[in-house]
Amino acid sequence: MADLLSLSLILFFYFLLSSSQDLFLFVHAESNNNLTVTPINYDLYHSSGSLMHEIKALVHRHPNKFSMETVKAGNKGYGAEIAVVTYCKGKRDSPEKPKLRILLSFGQHGRELITSELALRILSILSEEKLLPGMDQASLNSILDKVVIKVVPMENLNGRKLVEAGDLCERRNGRGVDLNRNWSVDWGKKEKDYDPYEENPGTAPFSEPESQIMRKLAVSFEPHIWVNVHSGMEALFMPYDHKNTTPEGLPLQRMKLLLEEVKQLHCQKRCVIGSGGGSVGLVDFYLNLMRGLIHISY
Ligand SMILES: [Zn+2]
Repeated sequence: MADLLSLSLILFFYFLLSSSQDLFLFVHAESNNNLTVTPINYDLYHSSGSLMHEIKALVHRHPNKFSMETVKAGNKGYGAEIAVVTYCKGKRDSPEKPKLRILLSFGQHGRELITSELALRILSILSEEKLLPGMDQASLNSILDKVVIKVVPMENLNGRKLVEAGDLCERRNGRGVDLNRNWSVDWGKKEKDYDPYEENPGTAPFSEPESQIMRKLAVSFEPHIWVNVHSGMEALFMPYDHKNTTPEGLPLQRMKLLLEEVKQLHCQKRCVIGSGGGSVGLVDFYLNLMRGLIHISY
């Protein structure tokens, strides 16, 4: 299982990196000393509606590989929904040969449009409508036979809609909570660079419907691998992200080696690797929580 796990992880980082090379663009422009904001270029990005429409159509064209559900939750007059696509070839749960379970989530922050484009690209490759450049399809298929992948293309649809309405720098959900701070590990803890606007953790851990849906998904699916995809810098992070240390033990050593290998293969000096907290002072409570919640070994 360990080898398969490593192979799959390499495969998915490869997806992420190779798929994103031609998609990086930014939305700021400056003129006459006034910061102006360039509207979203819909020649480059889908709208949330058209992206989800394409994903639905793709799933529909490949019923032997994909299924899709939309999970809803809400409280205090605020509702959210998250679409989850499941990729699984052949028998879903063969007791003799349990499959490796992989969870890929995108679009946790509303403004990070490119991540959801990447979700669509990955699903297109899984469907075989698009090919992974430089990858032997037979080798890819032999790996894909052994995995179940759940893809969350757009975790924060409400936040994304605010961005599409013109609030281009919004990262929080539809009522101003940062979903990356709404989980229960060290909830509400304020680091030195804490920004109360950007990092509003909500009124309590899991106060937000989006977080509740993701928690439920994690608990029921119990992924062996989880990749939470963000944009804004080229980096491959591993735990911990909310403090400047890394967990100890063999799984972490193996993960670090794996990240080194992916870095060498695909992003050389451009890419930062290490714990998010230790490498760049990033705080990502989400990964840590997932570890505590379902005992993922990284
Ligand atoms: Zn982000």
